[in-house]
Amino acid sequence: MRYHCIIDAYSEDVIQQLEELGAFKEAFLSVAEEGESYVMCRNRADVEKLGRCVCESVVALTAEEYSPEAVLAVLEKEIVQEDLYIFGSGFAGTELSVRLAARAKGSSVAAVHSLKLAETLTVKKMVYANHMEGTFSMKKGPYCISLAKGLDRQEPEEGICHVSKEIPCPASSGFVVSRKTTANEAGGGLREAKVVIAAGRGIKNKERADFVQETAEALGGELGVSRPAAMNAWAPMNRLIGVSGAMLQPDICITAGVSGAAAFFAGIEKSKFIVAINTDGQAPVMKKADVAVVDDFEPVLKALRELAEK
Ligand SMILES: Cc1cc2nc3c(=O)[nH]c(=O)nc-3n(C[C@H](O)[C@H](O)[C@H](O)COP(=O)(O)OP(=O)(O)OC[C@H]3O[C@@H](n4cnc5c(N)ncnc54)[C@H](O)[C@@H]3O)c2cc1C
Repeated sequence: MRYHCIIDAYSEDVIQQLEELGAFKEAFLSVAEEGESYVMCRNRADVEKLGRCVCESVVALTAEEYSPEAVLAVLEKEIVQEDLYIFGSGFAGTELSVRLAARAKGSSVAAVHSLKLAETLTVKKMVYANHMEGTFSMKKGPYCISLAKGLDRQEPEEGICHVSKEIPCPASSGFVVSRKTTANEAGGGLREAKVVIAAGRGIKNKERADFVQETAEALGGELGVSRPAAMNAWAPMNRLIGVSGAMLQPDICITAGVSGAAAFFAGIEKSKFIVAINTDGQAPVMKKADVAVVDDFEPVLKALRELAEK
């Protein structure tokens, strides 16, 4: 079995991806044979601009903008049934690893933090809201994994990386009719915030989400959201808190219009101090919070914001 890395050079965190992949290769794949590395990018020059030696054999998958359908169409043709494909820890890596395995009828595990190559390939990842470590045996190739967030990093060798082959991705991406790209946070932001206001379904619309964001900024903090708020596009997906999003540990977390479902609460339970604002005094979050305010969130946050602005 050979292994291949797939790198997203459209992303601002591309160097972090290289560093995490470098440390992962060193820790778990030092005896395995490395195949090609695929770099998703605009053009060859993007690969050279990285200023890092990605791998001996680099294939550039080029297109003006990133499209998962177009990349998958190329990778599906390139894939070798018995090989291992390692994607980075970002959203693109998780999406592509799962979709590529499904297309090629292989197996996939996302957010992997360790790997063992023996008769069968086994990988480990955190499960049940980071409370347990799960070990998964991958039975069917191609084996597609994405890395967990926040793994150890290792500086890749500096130098020019030469592209051995370029494959242009197809222009038409099938059913996608339009696309808008929003910048992703590479670091800091919500995950590092000391103060977080988490908005839930109870805020009811995008305008109120903007108001919560401005309030969070007035307090020197960041906006986070529950899943219904993210799914309604009241805030970007990278603001999602919980087992499917960010696991936080701010000094203060204020929830507004959030019921406190277990999948959400896992993302804020390590906060030093939790204030819950909810019109329903019986909502689960009210029993778990340090302070529970039974009220409409809007006047409470308005008063807090005025206080902060003074
Ligand atoms: C596998 C899986 C993974 C999941 N992962 C996540 C995850 O990572 N993150 C996540 O958030 N969810 C996740 N969920 C969904 C989760 O189970 C809940 O459905 C979700 O968290 C509920 O969001 P909410 O509290 O915003 O909405 P609701 O449960 O609908 O609560 C809305 C609350 O707002 C209150 N309210 C209404 N109006 C006001 C007002 N004017 N002022 C103040 N309060 C008001 C209501 O009393 C209510 O308590 C997951 C679910 C599954 C099955």
